[in-house]
Amino acid sequence: MSYDTNNIFAKVLRGEIPCNKIAENQHALAFYDINPQAPQHALIIPKGAYQSFNEFAAMATADEMSAWLALIADVAKQLGLTDSGYRLLINTGGDAAQEVPHLHAHIVGGHALGRMLATTA
Ligand code: AMP
Repeated sequence: MSYDTNNIFAKVLRGEIPCNKIAENQHALAFYDINPQAPQHALIIPKGAYQSFNEFAAMATADEMSAWLALIADVAKQLGLTDSGYRLLINTGGDAAQEVPHLHAHIVGGHALGRMLATTA
């Protein structure tokens, strides 16, 4: 499946829809999630057209990878979560219910997050 240039984060990157920006660097942008699942909930996306972590891991340059990771760490620090802890989450594909087909890391924190996954049995 090819990259959908009309996905919501592509529109954010083109400035066609606004975001509540936290920080950015040459290759990555961070903004607050529109529907926060915890007191702090940020998204960190690469500026390149990567629909999921699979494509990013296979095709991104070393500079893109390091910039995205560095921004994730910067945002955790800016949100004051490095001491209290946080969860870093990357939904990838159907079983993970990835909704937006542009790679994004979620940082959630600000209170105790409980178990990693809801139990299903
Ligand atoms: P995922 O299920 O991992 O694809 O998560 C997509 C996330 O994007 C959800 O947490 C949404 O609340 C969030 N989201 C969707 N549209 C926007 C937007 N315009 N600005 C910020 N976050 C958004």
